Amino acid sequence: MLRSARDGSEHDESAEYVVRCECGYEVRGPIGTIVPALQDHGHEAHNMQVTREKVLAMAQPA
Ligand SMILES: [Zn+2]
Repeated sequence: MLRSARDGSEHDESAEYVVRCECGYEVRGPIGTIVPALQDHGHEAHNMQVTREKVLAMAQPA
């Protein structure tokens, strides 16, 4: 697994994050939860392919 620590904003796999879609959909939890949740949402609600990188870029510490 690649792990980057750019900007000192490394994502902690055990920390909780919240990520909100532009449509208002919001999901909260550890990275391992929000990534697949938002990928499912993007596909089902927007017919969009959401990458892990995109989820991480949108995630805020909860
Ligand atoms: Zn959405």
